Amino acid sequence: MVYATRRFEFSSSHRYWRDDWSPEENERVFGKCTSRYGHGHNYTLDVTITGALDPRTGMVMNMTELKAIVNQVLEEFDHKHLNEDTPYFKTQLPTTENLVRVLWRLIAARLPAEARLARLRLYEMADLWAEYDGADETTFARAYTFSAAHRLHAPALSDEENRAIYGKCNNPNGHGHNYTVEVSVGGPVDPETGMVIDLTALDRTVRELLDQLDFRHLDREVAAFADQPSTAENIVVYLWNELAPRLEGRLRHLKLWETRKNVFEYAGPTGASEHR
Ligand SMILES: [Zn+2]
Ligand SMILES: [Zn+2]
Repeated sequence: MVYATRRFEFSSSHRYWRDDWSPEENERVFGKCTSRYGHGHNYTLDVTITGALDPRTGMVMNMTELKAIVNQVLEEFDHKHLNEDTPYFKTQLPTTENLVRVLWRLIAARLPAEARLARLRLYEMADLWAEYDGADETTFARAYTFSAAHRLHAPALSDEENRAIYGKCNNPNGHGHNYTVEVSVGGPVDPETGMVIDLTALDRTVRELLDQLDFRHLDREVAAFADQPSTAENIVVYLWNELAPRLEGRLRHLKLWETRKNVFEYAGPTGASEHR
């Protein structure tokens, strides 16, 4: 199967607020998103379609046609207040998870028979997105950063072998990185909050863990790396093992950038990488 993706952009405002909750409860769950007059985002939508290739055109569908269909759908959302100006968020909140599912319904219904909507990924911000593929589960992801020093040095190897394998990364005085980790969770969308996971709780859980690494020397100050090399591979497995039990079965995928050029993914001992 060939998958074809086209990117779209639109700008909208919205507000998270439940009238049936107290102001305190709204504030606790939705934080700054409760702001009275709304706030806004530049949304980025990646639309992925699949289907048999037309032997004459060599395409699943004409991308110009896809562009026209999706832009027509987005007309209703672009430069609008999602709660006030669209009919979709009268009984559910305009969270990224709910919005991606609304867009799925609208776009899927308009595609020609030869194309099938395979995936929608909606970025509310560069570090926050939701993804939907028509199944029960919706994926939500958020990226976090931490900065740490380390030295690649395996206790099981001789000094000479360590120098040969790790090169510059074996510098005895260490070096460091700004790490970014993208945490993907999956599950049904909570009808009350419009979220796969309580975002405030997710932030707190991930931050608590990352704060133990942030502005530290991984090998010298984090017990987990005292006797195993602090490779990004070991770090991403460590983060998985720590986060999975704290996220109540919702953790689906981790993606760790050690630098902008080195990226590592892990989805647990039995999980498959997304390769996206
Ligand atoms: Zn927002
Ligand atoms: Zn390094």
